[in-house]
Amino acid sequence: MAESKSVAIIGAGIFGLSLAVALQDRNYKVTVFDRSQYDENGYDPAADGVQAASVDHNKIFRASYGTKLHYQRLAIEARKAWVLGDEKHGFSEQSDLSNDQRLFVGSGMLRVQPSDVLGALEKETLANMERDGLRDTQFIKGKPEDHRRAEQLGWKDKLLDFEIPQSSPASTYEAVLDSLAGFVRCSNACAYYQNIAADKGVEFCFGPDKGAVKSLVKSSSGVHSDKERVTGIKSKDGKLHNADVVVVAAGSFSTQILPELSYFLESSAGSLATFKIDPANTELWDKYSPERFPVMTWKSVPRDSSGKDTGSIYVLPRTPEGLLKIGYRGIKFTNFQPAPESTPFTQDGQWSVPLPPEMCSQLQEPALYAIKQFVSIFLPEFSGVPFDSTKLCWYTDSLDNSFLIDYVPTYAENSVFVCTGGSGHGAKFLPVLGEHAADIIEHGDQSASYMRPFWRWRPEVPRRNGLEEGPGGPRDISHIS
Ligand SMILES: Cc1cc2nc3c(=O)[nH]c(=O)nc-3n(C[C@H](O)[C@H](O)[C@H](O)COP(=O)(O)OP(=O)(O)OC[C@H]3O[C@@H](n4cnc5c(N)ncnc54)[C@H](O)[C@@H]3O)c2cc1C
Repeated sequence: MAESKSVAIIGAGIFGLSLAVALQDRNYKVTVFDRSQYDENGYDPAADGVQAASVDHNKIFRASYGTKLHYQRLAIEARKAWVLGDEKHGFSEQSDLSNDQRLFVGSGMLRVQPSDVLGALEKETLANMERDGLRDTQFIKGKPEDHRRAEQLGWKDKLLDFEIPQSSPASTYEAVLDSLAGFVRCSNACAYYQNIAADKGVEFCFGPDKGAVKSLVKSSSGVHSDKERVTGIKSKDGKLHNADVVVVAAGSFSTQILPELSYFLESSAGSLATFKIDPANTELWDKYSPERFPVMTWKSVPRDSSGKDTGSIYVLPRTPEGLLKIGYRGIKFTNFQPAPESTPFTQDGQWSVPLPPEMCSQLQEPALYAIKQFVSIFLPEFSGVPFDSTKLCWYTDSLDNSFLIDYVPTYAENSVFVCTGGSGHGAKFLPVLGEHAADIIEHGDQSASYMRPFWRWRPEVPRRNGLEEGPGGPRDISHIS
C-alpha cells in the first residue's frame, strides 16, 4: 500500500481545523501548527495574546447571499451539518437555544432597513430567496400576510419595531426576519472540532515555540528547474518538520508567512464591543436571550443628520455569560506598514498587517460614534453604559470577497497549498469547508467541488473589495502603531 501523504497545516482556526479533519478522513497524515496555546486556553476569546478571527463567542450564520448562489448553496449545506451536529447532542433545531453546548443557534436574524421601506439590496435578496424557493423562510415586517405567517410559525415576537429618530410623522424601520439565519458559537465550535481532529489522529503542535511557524523550508525541485519546492516548515524552537504539502491557513497572518499572497489578501480590522448583562437583571437577561432576540443587522442611510456615516452594524443575542456583542463593519481599518523587500505586490512599498494584540483593545472614533448611535436607537437600555470590552478583530479580505483555496503555482510539485481569505464570512462554513478544500487538494482542476472556480488562484482578477485603496486613506490607522 502506498504511504499516505503528509500535510503540515499552519493555523488551527476554522479554515485549518476544517481542512485537517477532512484530510485525516482521507488518510493523509496531518499535523497542525498554531502559535496559540489552544490546548490550554480552549479557544477562550478572553485568553491573553490570542489573535484569530475564529476565536470569538459567536459569528453570524446566514444563507442569504444575494446573487452569489454558490455561497448560498454552501451555507445551506453547512446549516444542515450544524443542525445535524447539534441533534447528535440532543438538541432539536429550536430547543434550548441558550444552552452553551449547542454550536448552532437558530435565533433568526432581523435585517433592519435604512428607512421605513425596503431598501434596494433587500429587494434583491428577497427576489433571490423567491427564486430558490426560500421565500417562506423570510418575513417582511410591514407585509400583513408575512406577519400572519410569522405568527402561525412562532416567529412574530422577533419582528421587532424600532422608531426612526426624529421622524415626522413618527414611523418605524422596515425589517425582514430571516428564520434560516442565526449564529454559531465560534470558539466552542473550534474547541469541538479540534477535539474531533485529535481523536481522529491529527497531531497538533501548539504554543509560541513549537507551534509558531518561523519559515517554510525550501529546496530545489527535481522536476522544475525554475521553481523551488517546499519540503516542510521550521518552527520557532528551531525544529524542522518535513511534509509533502504545507498548507498556509494562518488567517490575517498568511501574507507574512507567504508573501506570494500579498496581491490576493489584505488584513483589515472589524470593531467589536460588548455589554455585560447581569443574570440578576431578569428583564434584560430574558429580553436579549436568543429565544426572544434575533441577530440584528442594520445598514444606516449613508449619512445621519450630523453628516457622519454610521455605516453597517450588527448585534447578537446575549451569550450564556451575558455578553451582548455589537460589531461595526462600516469601515474596515487597515494598518499599512513597510513590506519586506522581496514582497511581490505592495502599495507604495507597504502592506496592511494586523496590529499587535496589545494595540487591539481600543476602537477608532468612527466606530465608537456609529456604535453609540446604534445603541441609542436599538438597545436603549445600554445608552451611556460603559462597554465590558472593545476589540479590533482582523479580517483576511480577499480581492473579491471569495476565499482563496488552491495550490500556490510559484512552488513546484504542488508543495504549497493555501486555505484562507475568509473575508468576514468564513466562520459559518466550518463543518463543510474542509471537505471542499480537501477535494481541491486531491483533484485540483478536476475537483468535484462546485466552489472550485471561485476559490482558485486568480491573478487576473482586479483588486477590489477595498484592496484597491492602499495606504494613507481614511481607513489606514497605521499612525497609532
Ligand atoms: C470582525 C469579524 C467579524 C466576522 N463575522 C463573521 C460572521 O458574522 N459570520 C461568519 O461566517 N464569519 C465571520 N467572520 C469571518 C470568520 O471569522 C473568518 O472567516 C474565519 O474565522 C477565519 O478563520 P481562519 O482559520 O482563516 O483564520 P483565524 O481564525 O485568524 O486563524 C488563523 C490561525 O493562524 C495562527 N497563526 C498565525 N500565524 C501563525 C504562525 N506564524 N505560526 C503558527 N500559527 C499561526 C493564529 O494563531 C490563528 O489561530 C468575521 C471575521 C471578523 C474579523
